[in-house]
Amino acid sequence: MALQRLTFHVTDRCQLNCDHCLRDPETKAKDLDLSLIESVLDQAKALFESTHVGLTGGEPALHPRFYEIVDAIVDRGYTWHVVSNGERFDRMLQRLEERPARLQGLKMLNFSLDGATPETHDAIREQGSFRSVMQAVSLCRARSIPFLLQITLNARNVDEIEEIALLAGQLGADKLAYNFTQPTGTFLDAALHLPASEWKRAMDRINRVRDVFKVSVIHSEVGPHEEPFHMCEMWRQEHLHVDPSGNLNLCCQHAGIPNAGPLSDIAGNLHEMSLGQAHREFTKIVHHTIEARLELLAEPGLNEWDKHFSCNWCLKRFGKPHWTEEGVAGPNAMRARWRGRWTPGYKESHLRSGALHLPVLSSDDRSDGAE
Ligand code: SF4
Ligand code: SF4
Repeated sequence: MALQRLTFHVTDRCQLNCDHCLRDPETKAKDLDLSLIESVLDQAKALFESTHVGLTGGEPALHPRFYEIVDAIVDRGYTWHVVSNGERFDRMLQRLEERPARLQGLKMLNFSLDGATPETHDAIREQGSFRSVMQAVSLCRARSIPFLLQITLNARNVDEIEEIALLAGQLGADKLAYNFTQPTGTFLDAALHLPASEWKRAMDRINRVRDVFKVSVIHSEVGPHEEPFHMCEMWRQEHLHVDPSGNLNLCCQHAGIPNAGPLSDIAGNLHEMSLGQAHREFTKIVHHTIEARLELLAEPGLNEWDKHFSCNWCLKRFGKPHWTEEGVAGPNAMRARWRGRWTPGYKESHLRSGALHLPVLSSDDRSDGAE
């Protein structure tokens, strides 16, 4: 068992406004401090001899000091990967190519793709975003940069599991990752919800895809697990996650999600304590969570969600929005949808009217999310 990677959620800024997004758009986007990232990188190297860093967001490249973050990573001998929506990837690539070390340390570009067709993908994300991903993928292919396509499955795209795998193969993806949508706590969950039996069917189909297609297929922790006692990589202490405020928290699925319960998923703020101290607190949270899981599994007559969806149970335990057979439960986030033309109520009114398609953004509109 070893700490295999650190993940920094570097910013909440994003050009898009996907229906399943877990950011809280009501609050001003936060950016993780570069100096904190540098300090954590040094500490993780000294404490754990860590070697790999993941960058997520928001759209990580919108962090005002993104390229300095990349330099801090590669200059300390880490490899890295980044999760991107593919918007203006040409600009990101140009900046990465300014310093060979940036691309040399890059292990993978993870692009989000939520449908096998522009219609499905753009309806969940934004009009024109499918095309952005296709352009980004072509640029990666042209430069032999490895890329992964990651799909967040929900009721609106679950029918396309096989088509997406076919597309990933045609595009030359190095990996294909199926994620399972986590509830946002907003009205948008109603259109994303699937009952437990449908998730399990989706998992069977993913397993068949893995057997049939050449592309390497992985799936996220969120989906169903055959074994009721599943140790995720956080519980195994192989992965630490830092949110944009500098908190070491349980995992990315908990970060910034409204919490109605007494338990906190935050081990500590790295502005106020060392990585070693925060890690000790993290270990206590993990220990209590595993203990609670074992207690639960000893109970008779568990429902499917509690028995086979350990992440969903984990979110429920910490008082966060979680799926049930009927829909979503837990605190209602009721997040206003904002940013530019994404004014509060805009999507809601479109959902009510059945018109999910949003206006096409010009390239200027989607050039950056900086405020
Ligand atoms: S790409 Fe979509 S899901 Fe990702 S941060 Fe932006 S709005 Fe949220
Ligand atoms: S939600 Fe809980 S069980 Fe799932 S990956 Fe995060 S820490 Fe692990």
